[in-house]
Amino acid sequence: MIRKIEEHIPHGKVLEDLENLCQKAQELGATDSKVIRSDQVIIDERVRMKCMYPKCAAYGTNAHCPPYAPDLELARKVVSRYQYGILYTIQVPSESYAGSTAAKEKLYVPPMRVLNSLASDIESEAFYQGYYFALAFSSGPCKPVFCPGIECSVLTPGKGCRARMRARGSMEGFGMDAYGMATRAGWDIYPCGYRTKPEDIPHGRAVGLVLVH
Ligand code: SF4
Repeated sequence: MIRKIEEHIPHGKVLEDLENLCQKAQELGATDSKVIRSDQVIIDERVRMKCMYPKCAAYGTNAHCPPYAPDLELARKVVSRYQYGILYTIQVPSESYAGSTAAKEKLYVPPMRVLNSLASDIESEAFYQGYYFALAFSSGPCKPVFCPGIECSVLTPGKGCRARMRARGSMEGFGMDAYGMATRAGWDIYPCGYRTKPEDIPHGRAVGLVLVH
């Protein structure tokens, strides 16, 4: 249902809408979702440093990743303009994220596609309910999901994102500590790297956020 934009939405109504958005996220496929306050969003310079040193393969390849992502001063200012968001997660088979095969065969791409869909769908749902500043974040670089083997069109002046209805920047690209936020939300999350054996962890997890109001 599309609602008229209101200058002021009563606090009780905002809370009710947030709970409904949480429910909607799970209907759309999130394993779990929670309403969080914006002061529970953790922005940490060390997250940005992990993109930069040693350089992630996605660094500088697309508009959503550093160095094109906002600096952390702007990121903090943006987050502070919101009161609430929806933190959501998908739990995936450990083979999708753990070990060298996941990296070499890009087994992480399908879950990331799901997370981007959730991000854009929840954002859209909030937008049409009158929360026109709703702002969504996914997980991981958008390029392997939407533009593998081709250039990021945003980096060509005059062109926008070819997947702008779906592709969203990552929490980590915005400097958010997604691991820390997932842990505080009570979701178990494990370090997934080349040396993680899929059989050593119960599942993989991806986390996203939609700032709503
Ligand atoms: S989806 Fe493609 S065009 Fe859009 S920002 Fe990512 S790499 Fe660039």
